[in-house]
Amino acid sequence: MKYTFYTPGPAQLYPSFEQHLQTFVEQQLGSISHRSQQYRALHQHTVEQLRTLLNVPATHAILFLGSASEAWERILLNCVEHESYHLVNGSFSKKFFQYAQALHKFAHKLEKPMGQGFDASEVEVPEYAELIGLAHNETSSGVQMRVSDIHKIKRSNPDKLIAVDMVSSAPYPDLDYSLIDTAFFSVQKAFGLPSGLGVWIVNEKCLQKAERLRKYDNLTIGAHHDLPTLWKNAQNHETPATPNVMGIYLLGKIAEDMNKIGVEAIRKETEQKAKLIYKFIEQHEGFEPFVQESKHRSQTVVVANTKQPSSEIISTLKAKGLVLGSGYGEHKATQVRIANFPATSTEQVEDLIKALGEL
Ligand SMILES: *Cc1c(COP(=O)(O)O)cnc(C)c1O
Repeated sequence: MKYTFYTPGPAQLYPSFEQHLQTFVEQQLGSISHRSQQYRALHQHTVEQLRTLLNVPATHAILFLGSASEAWERILLNCVEHESYHLVNGSFSKKFFQYAQALHKFAHKLEKPMGQGFDASEVEVPEYAELIGLAHNETSSGVQMRVSDIHKIKRSNPDKLIAVDMVSSAPYPDLDYSLIDTAFFSVQKAFGLPSGLGVWIVNEKCLQKAERLRKYDNLTIGAHHDLPTLWKNAQNHETPATPNVMGIYLLGKIAEDMNKIGVEAIRKETEQKAKLIYKFIEQHEGFEPFVQESKHRSQTVVVANTKQPSSEIISTLKAKGLVLGSGYGEHKATQVRIANFPATSTEQVEDLIKALGEL
């Protein structure tokens, strides 16, 4: 059976994925040197398409890592000397905080239960925190932060660096990079690609901090993928280590396809599809939105409480070729998570709603 995946990552592959993969194979791009002009042109194309799609100015570099979790470690090693501060409201935002502890940073957190979101007005950053870490979209709970609130937090804390996890939402959030020092995502969520590539967007302020920290005797910014080396290589459209050339190629092609549609149209369609899903789970007696406050509800990962054990719903739908995500952690048995990424069309979302309605 050919399945449609509504899972929040790995997720449904972007419709043009297969065709681009075929081209990658036909052109033998898996064998080219990563120090060749051919590679540099491929790399540059992907960076340029992402710059256009996400509106990233020249003050920021776009760098390639192995995953988004790697970005947590790179940011903490390169941009934090002593203290970081984290908004925690689910498993992924908590992991960023835990990485800080594991790297022996003094990590502060403002924590909320799963399903609750943050408003800028309740965020008070400790005086000595150097960096604010937050998740635009908390994939475990379906809570999204409003972009205007992220911008407000930075405006109230102009001397701190702000790091935005947009792993399960990019390219949806329209971030103003004059206010965002660093942001990151991986490709197996809303870009509809197989996993194995992380993208790190980072500004000159972060680079300057890393260069300063690198000189300290009692501190390390790491050996693998340290920011000054990544940045220097990126100037030449290269990476320090042999990169995921296939992932970088495919990402460039899919970003190009998205640019042809236009990011505004993609964002609008995302909102229209989210509206359909929320309307259904609000009206159907077997479901309810997990996130109570509608202003904190995610546009890209919808989490619904289920009356029936969610495993039953998941297996019934799977038999029809529709794959849903289960609840996360303690909510595994009582929730479903529905990804609303660009790879699933309005028609596919309507198919899902129809199948859920027939339960
Ligand atoms: C999936 C996810 C991550 C981790 O991404 P990897 O590519 O697995 O490292 C981090 N943050 C959020 C919000 C996620 O959804």
